[in-house]
Amino acid sequence: MMYEYNDLDRENDGFGLLRPKEYNSSIFTIDINALYKKGIRGFIVDLDDTLLPRPEYRIPFSVYSWVEKVKEHGIKICIVSNGGSAKRVEYISESLNLKGFSLSFKPLPFALRKAIAHLGVSPAETAVIGDQIITDVIGGNIIGAYTILVKPISNEVSPIRMPMRFVEDSLLKLLRLEIDS
Ligand SMILES: [Mg+2]
Repeated sequence: MMYEYNDLDRENDGFGLLRPKEYNSSIFTIDINALYKKGIRGFIVDLDDTLLPRPEYRIPFSVYSWVEKVKEHGIKICIVSNGGSAKRVEYISESLNLKGFSLSFKPLPFALRKAIAHLGVSPAETAVIGDQIITDVIGGNIIGAYTILVKPISNEVSPIRMPMRFVEDSLLKLLRLEIDS
């Protein structure tokens, strides 16, 4: 009998915590309407390389309008960042009129749980969105949220972050993840 490597097999391959529910090329290709129909009512979004390139303060108009679009769908949204610059996280989240949590130590669940409590949704109603499997996807899966991996915004990586990017690229291959949208 022939077996195909289908979604069911993928979910039972022993990499459950590492595997996102969706892999999108950016936040902009996320199908907000489809998520709403699935019962998602809260977005917890990573900051660095998900919403903005790493040291960036300037927020492009596209990000403003994406956040507005999410809110218009009746989905609450906040930022949970591992970034240590509380000032930057605060500045960006306030500019977007959102609550932001810095120094979050994802994949540890504490800040993610705080964010869920802040949004007033249940874990099953929450999508955790980020560019890293090790932090965003594992963290989101630990708390029982719907996890969405996006491609990191910046292509150039500082030498200090190269090993992490290497690990992430290896995981993508190991999990045989391909862009869904
Ligand atoms: Mg990130």
